[in-house]
Amino acid sequence: MSVLLAEGIGDTIRVSLTPRPGGDRREEVQACRELLQALGLRAFAPSVTACPGCGRTTSTTFQELALQVEDFIDNRMPEWRDRYEGVEELKLAVMGCVVNGPGESKAADIGISLPGTGEAPTCPVYVDGRQFTTLRGTAAELSEQFTRIVAEYVERRYPAKA
Ligand code: SF4
Repeated sequence: MSVLLAEGIGDTIRVSLTPRPGGDRREEVQACRELLQALGLRAFAPSVTACPGCGRTTSTTFQELALQVEDFIDNRMPEWRDRYEGVEELKLAVMGCVVNGPGESKAADIGISLPGTGEAPTCPVYVDGRQFTTLRGTAAELSEQFTRIVAEYVERRYPAKA
């Protein structure tokens, strides 16, 4: 389907999934949205690129922070969608080390690189491709500080809807 869509073929799509017992049929719509967004054809919600974890990660902080950031986006989107033009295009990155994290962070609108194995306990944050600040603290403190930066960025970057 992606090949057809990338060629500009098709006006509407439908995905049929075998639901899990008691599952939610809306997952079919979600799959369509993710497909269109991954192809760059439509944006429905901000995307969060997250570190998958590897030998460089020594804790679950990258998983916790990625989850908290996704929850934060989900909670704020109903309001942001009404208030800010184009906020669906926002790209975030939550990465697990300062070896590969900064590259992905710079490619996003806002990205954070957590310390990996043997790295100093600091977390550089990049905004629009440049280092913006460095955060420190527990997972909860990092989440609070990082989501505040995200909220302020959205307010600054996206014009208010008429
Ligand atoms: S960002 Fe770093 S810790 Fe995460 S998968 Fe990549 S190399 Fe590993």
